[in-house]
Amino acid sequence: MQLCETKSAIRDLHATWRQVGESIGLVPTMGYLHDGHLTLVRQARAENDRVIVTIFVNPTQFGPNEDLATYPRDMDRDLALLRAEGVDAVFAPSVVEMYDGAPETIVETTKLSRILMGRLRPGHYRGVATVVTKLFNITQPDRAYFGEKDFQQLAVIRRMVRDLDMPLDVISVPTVREADGLAMSSRNVKLTPEDRAAAPVLNRALDTAANAPTVAKAHKIIRDTLASEPRADIKSIDIRDAETLARVSGPITRPVVALLAVRFGNVLLIDQRVLTGEKP
Ligand code: AMP
Repeated sequence: MQLCETKSAIRDLHATWRQVGESIGLVPTMGYLHDGHLTLVRQARAENDRVIVTIFVNPTQFGPNEDLATYPRDMDRDLALLRAEGVDAVFAPSVVEMYDGAPETIVETTKLSRILMGRLRPGHYRGVATVVTKLFNITQPDRAYFGEKDFQQLAVIRRMVRDLDMPLDVISVPTVREADGLAMSSRNVKLTPEDRAAAPVLNRALDTAANAPTVAKAHKIIRDTLASEPRADIKSIDIRDAETLARVSGPITRPVVALLAVRFGNVLLIDQRVLTGEKP
């Protein structure tokens, strides 16, 4: 496995693979890897000749009062995990390497970036879309892998790839969970033991709403379940069209997605579930 810290190093490596017609899968991450990330890596490994994982805590997607400085990092551990998965290259640039030259160009999905989590985190999805565009241009993958856990991020990236005719396939991977149902996240280590014990309430709330017949019923079930946990500070509960993220109401007759953002202490957790309204 090669560790590339510069754009030119990963481009040179990439050129040698392309010359012999090898396909390339990309898994963008912010590091501090867990089994959710590794599930994306395994799928990329199975579907491509070469796999590139990027590790970059992107400052432009963090707001001024967010957790950029305290975002957990452990490069040595990450590299060991990725080596064990048979990854071909890790691209881990510095902030200066990524953003040198005072860039003035941004990429933004003008509607999708301003709704839902985009309202809670202004500028977040613009930061994501811009850095993902840069990572696509630097690594030129055939396929790029993203988790459904970050459902709105996935929608933003799919829209951007479609709107700008980016020549690659976006592949989505279902959320990987801890044994107690908590969606795996690099931020989970920041929870206090009490908050960690309370946090599976997100998954429980989503489970309970799985077969709700209407949007209003699903919303109420989720709110009531979350409210039963005093440590959970509900930031948002949204039920939207699973494809467009447009507002929905009435009976659930086509897939909708329930999107939750809940704070425990100063850690913001998100989770999501597609609800079909069908009886099991
Ligand atoms: P992050 O390092 O948090 O930016 O995540 C990198 C990628 O891993 C994103 O595409 C995430 O959606 C995905 N991911 C994070 N957590 C999970 C999880 N629990 N299950 C599946 N994918 C995940």
